[in-house]
Amino acid sequence: MSIKDIIGNQQAKETMLSIIRTGKLGAAYIFSGEENTGKSFAAVQFSKALNCRALLKDGDCCDRCENCLTIEKVILNLDENFNTQNPHPDILYIDTEKAKLSIELVRDALKSANAIKTVYLRKKIVIIKDAERMTIDASNSILKELEEPKSDVVIILICNNIESILPTIISRCYNIAIKRASINEIKEKILIIKPGIDEKLAEKMAIYSEGKIGLALNYDKVKKNYEEVVEIFKILNLKTDNVELIFNKIEELELKYKSEKAEKVSGATRNFLIENLKMLAYIYKDLLHAITGVDNYFENKYPFKLDEYKEFTPEKILKILFLIKNAYYDLEANANVGLLLNSLFFNIRKVVRTE
Ligand SMILES: [Zn+2]
Repeated sequence: MSIKDIIGNQQAKETMLSIIRTGKLGAAYIFSGEENTGKSFAAVQFSKALNCRALLKDGDCCDRCENCLTIEKVILNLDENFNTQNPHPDILYIDTEKAKLSIELVRDALKSANAIKTVYLRKKIVIIKDAERMTIDASNSILKELEEPKSDVVIILICNNIESILPTIISRCYNIAIKRASINEIKEKILIIKPGIDEKLAEKMAIYSEGKIGLALNYDKVKKNYEEVVEIFKILNLKTDNVELIFNKIEELELKYKSEKAEKVSGATRNFLIENLKMLAYIYKDLLHAITGVDNYFENKYPFKLDEYKEFTPEKILKILFLIKNAYYDLEANANVGLLLNSLFFNIRKVVRTE
């Protein structure tokens, strides 16, 4: 794999290639963009190009030399705790499920990166995934590093939300924004990655991905999650009121949320409820697109007929999307889940029932 294999993102690819071609390398980069858009993949290919021993004319990595193979191997061989099973003196990849990236973790990484000259690679690579989870102290130690950059260390911060990175860090980094790909680009990519796959299935995978390659490759799970959210959508849009059904659903979701919270220490942004709200919003968005004639993924993706939703006006759907968006932010801010779902679901019902 190489920079050219990054899906979509022509502009980001051209930027990366031109940085390598011209040799105007910075000390630090931020790869920013939504979850599942392939930022880590892009960062790895870029790291390979920074170190490649047989660079192609256009600046891309050869994907064959010892350095290219090493980087790919080290980063892909991570255990479930995201610790590398193949420690390498020149590569540090920090990805933690812990809610915050602590000062110790970041400081140790930088210390060992600075301790000795590169052993094998040209540039030592320090990749910090979920960089927005760095504590203030950890951010400050990165900042200190960026104020006195070492010529043979490249720091790559990967984040979903660049606004949560310290502005003083951002101003010292080169930002490479990774965006969603089009449904078609995803489909084409799947046909290449999975030769022999049924074209219809590839298309389904692409449609469910919402332009995120990571979701396309996780199709079975994504589809299963959608099936659950489809049930919620059905209940919310019933022609007749059934309060009990809604209450049962809320209770069920609340229980699931609590058990998930008890099991894991994972960051609050990763829980299933947030994913469910996103998917619920996507279903309404697909309905909006179908009603306004943009596309008809609505009937393609879900077991619904557009005819059954004739009474939905664009205004109605926008109101509902607005409610979901607010609930989404409240949830990220750790609001009381039961109350939040109660108010969201019954407010949606209110909108649905208005003439
Ligand atoms: Zn190479």
